[in-house]
Amino acid sequence: MGNDSASRVYVNNKKKACEVCGIYSEEHALPEETTEEELLALIDCLNARKDINGILVQLPLPKGIDSEKVLLRILPEKDVDAFHPVNVGKIMIGNFDFLPCTPAGVMELIRLTGIEVSGKECVVVGRSNIVGKPQAMLLLHENGTVTICHSRTKNLKEVCRRADILVAAVGKAKFITADMVKDGAIVIDVGMNRDENGKLCGDVDYDAVSSVASAITPVPGGVGPMTIAMLMRNTVKAAEIQKGM
Ligand code: NDP
Repeated sequence: MGNDSASRVYVNNKKKACEVCGIYSEEHALPEETTEEELLALIDCLNARKDINGILVQLPLPKGIDSEKVLLRILPEKDVDAFHPVNVGKIMIGNFDFLPCTPAGVMELIRLTGIEVSGKECVVVGRSNIVGKPQAMLLLHENGTVTICHSRTKNLKEVCRRADILVAAVGKAKFITADMVKDGAIVIDVGMNRDENGKLCGDVDYDAVSSVASAITPVPGGVGPMTIAMLMRNTVKAAEIQKGM
């Protein structure tokens, strides 16, 4: 909804991924002036359709639209972003159908290193509802010893330096510097920012940190594509659940 340029790119990438996977997708691009009632009516209509298994409302929504109310309207079994409070609660208790796409993608990337999370010091910088908090929960489910940092954290550098696994989800270009990273740590960069030249970059100073870390994800090309892959996985899962498979 509206004209957010980053949202346009994300939606296009998601549509492309659906095509690659053979998933039917529909885009409902609503103008900025659409009312909340009209948006909710569209969600009701998609909730009721048997041929639609997953619904995603691309955030952010324009001012004046209550995002929480909108996300709450999506049927939990079609909530492929896993933002509905029912799905958030299920993640909390560890009995979930869908995982939120970005944290799930991060877990896949960690798995690919071959390093077990169990018993490791895991530090997540950022505590948003869509990344930081669920990320911490997923690391905890895998028996990591988890610390969540935020803007009020004291001694951030020292806390980050404890991490065997460091996940940065801050939204500040090159915020994590080499002196904040322990030798051999796994560093996952969720950030999507623009640097001073307008170039896409992460929250981690990649060039400096890659000489310290044992594994590190680039931006672009790391967590972003994994997020979309997890969205595809959730959509297939949603279809399976709805078809009783
Ligand atoms: P939010 O702005 O919602 O959260 C940022 C978090 O960083 C907050 O918890 C904030 O703390 C914390 N923070 C800010 N400044 C500092 C600081 N100086 N020290 C420590 N912590 C700090 O962002 P999101 O979680 O939505 O996104 C984070 C980044 O990830 C963004 O760059 C976003 O674009 C990107 N992103 C990428 C995705 C992908 O698919 N690759 C998907 C989603 C997001 P506090 O709570 O105290 O304010």
